[in-house]
Amino acid sequence: MATEELATDETILNIKRLPVTSEEFPFNEWLIKYEQSHILHSQCSKKGACNSCTNINDRCLFCQYTSQLELPHLPDMVFPNNILLLKHKSGCELKFNALDALQRVSNGKLNLQVDVAEAWQEARPGTNLDNRAKKFDWTFTTDYMGTMSNDFIEEDTSERIDIEKLKQREKILFFHELSLYEDELHDHGIASLNVKIRVMPSSFFILLRYFLRVDNVMARINDTRIYYEVGSPYLLREYTSKQADYKDLSLPIAIYTDPSQLAQYLTLKSSNYKKIIIPGAS
Ligand SMILES: [Zn+2]
Repeated sequence: MATEELATDETILNIKRLPVTSEEFPFNEWLIKYEQSHILHSQCSKKGACNSCTNINDRCLFCQYTSQLELPHLPDMVFPNNILLLKHKSGCELKFNALDALQRVSNGKLNLQVDVAEAWQEARPGTNLDNRAKKFDWTFTTDYMGTMSNDFIEEDTSERIDIEKLKQREKILFFHELSLYEDELHDHGIASLNVKIRVMPSSFFILLRYFLRVDNVMARINDTRIYYEVGSPYLLREYTSKQADYKDLSLPIAIYTDPSQLAQYLTLKSSNYKKIIIPGAS
């Protein structure tokens, strides 16, 4: 089929029928599962018919997203079917998806991003951000740490994930990485959220990373790390938010495109450390 045909209405509808890839990996007391598929459409895939659907689940994914999020626009690429799910035998669940992450993006009520918006504008005289754009967090910054079912119990802890132990060479039984959303900030950088999981014989480790780079202005990394050791009645969850302005950094250009390297040069702004107790864990 000629590539020019890819933009026809019919093809857009066909994208919806693309198969969803999924895989399940039973591990210890857990079932680890992911699903992944195409990006969210940029318009109603039922040609506006969703307006008359009273049940939200009957709407197309685009309409489900726009009606549940009060954002003036969505990131360039949203992966609504990319889901990582961990189900414990007790029934409790931990999952990662784009909708829950985007629900934590400021829609203007908190006005968190004004500083960045102004800095961006200073760096680019002539760029015009209207008031709405100033209030709306166009960086899609999220402090999402995953979605937990209510039966988990959260406690503050002084215990830390043993990073040295994670660095030890251990066989990797299962690995997967999913993109949840991404935006190129009109070619001025990147905002992205992705999650990866690594399962080893003794443990599993999840890294959920929000990465923001506003070129020549600032960078921010919000990381959630979750660690489980076989036999433990709890998970450890660590959240850190780090950022720095370019003017305070003087790094080789390649480092700005590599969040794992860049992270060590950013300043810690906030953090929290939790023990997530699994009900009924043996
Ligand atoms: Zn629709």
